[in-house]
Amino acid sequence: MNTSAWLYFDSSKLRDNVGRLQRLCRRRGVELAAVVKAGCGWSEIARAALEGGCGMLADSRLDNLARIQQSGIRAPSMLLRLPAPSQAEAVVRLCDISLNSELESIRALNAAAQRLGRRHRVLLMVELGDRREGILPDRLPALIEALQPLQAIEVAGIGTNLGCLGGIRTTVDKLSELVGLARRVERLLGHELEYVSGGNSGSLPLLLEGRLPAGINHLRIGFSMLLGRDPYTDEPLPGLHTDVFALEAELIEVQTKHSLPDGEVVLDAFGQVPHFEDRGERRRGILSLGRLDTDLATLRPLDDGIGMIGASSDHLVVDLGPDLRYRVGDRLRFAPGYGALVQAMLSPYVEKCLDSPFQAADITSSMAVSSVASP
Ligand SMILES: *Cc1c(COP(=O)(O)O)cnc(C)c1O
Repeated sequence: MNTSAWLYFDSSKLRDNVGRLQRLCRRRGVELAAVVKAGCGWSEIARAALEGGCGMLADSRLDNLARIQQSGIRAPSMLLRLPAPSQAEAVVRLCDISLNSELESIRALNAAAQRLGRRHRVLLMVELGDRREGILPDRLPALIEALQPLQAIEVAGIGTNLGCLGGIRTTVDKLSELVGLARRVERLLGHELEYVSGGNSGSLPLLLEGRLPAGINHLRIGFSMLLGRDPYTDEPLPGLHTDVFALEAELIEVQTKHSLPDGEVVLDAFGQVPHFEDRGERRRGILSLGRLDTDLATLRPLDDGIGMIGASSDHLVVDLGPDLRYRVGDRLRFAPGYGALVQAMLSPYVEKCLDSPFQAADITSSMAVSSVASP
């Protein structure tokens, strides 16, 4: 591959993170589903999560789950995104359990499961304020009733998702409401629910503070497992690695230029009017990385002296600060946030490197990457 940008994945650090989260959850009677969707189907990420002790994989895309399974990994799997009715058969084949809020979709799953001679388990999503997926609490009884005749469907639990679209915080009140609803659903069904799934990484702070309401027995964690950070503050969470991933690119230009553009300002390559601070003449670098490969807003240089200036499709421009050591051909390393990670994972131009020793940021020689696996 003729690449000059690399995404490094340290599987032992992910195993550690999963192990720590798994122990924290188990202590509180909570089962953990490792959300691997940011890995875009790279099976090594799923493998590390399982080796870390997690018993369930969760992903939002069927194609990711299919690729993980094609690599030989067998583990209970959960589909996070609501199934499209047209995909019902694939959902039943590929997933043990799916998140649902639409009767029509569950009917399609039932029909597909009957054709395949299987049963399919569903987790009913309840909308508690984030205004993304889920039915309103007062519609649960009617849905439960409508599901009764579906022979191949088993209601395995209820769940909620917060902090995604509406940016709503996961609180004790919201999760207590979910537990109350679970008890109501159990009375309607006449049996206990296996899962009361209390959300995503946004629930971890409550778990860590020992304030997760009793009755929540399942969490779906991606962000904090992969990045080791608190989703609200972006601060490192105690005992978790924040450097499971690193993104590296090569300097293809290092020159001193004025920090302000010269000429009539119209629009940048993405239709925005750019704004720059006048910092006089600066030593600037251009990296072999661009918006096609990553997300600038969530990319952090590991060298504090380096400042982000901007990026177009294929060029990332940085301020190299007063340090004169960086030269063309050097590699700079960055900590990717969630958006930067997903984008780099998706970019065919970024080489994915499994467990390669990380390079020092100022090494000039191009190191042969020892163990390379493309997702
Ligand atoms: C992505 C997702 C999660 C995981 O969220 P993180 O913030 O990455 O922990 C959980 N549940 C659903 C429904 C999701 O789509």
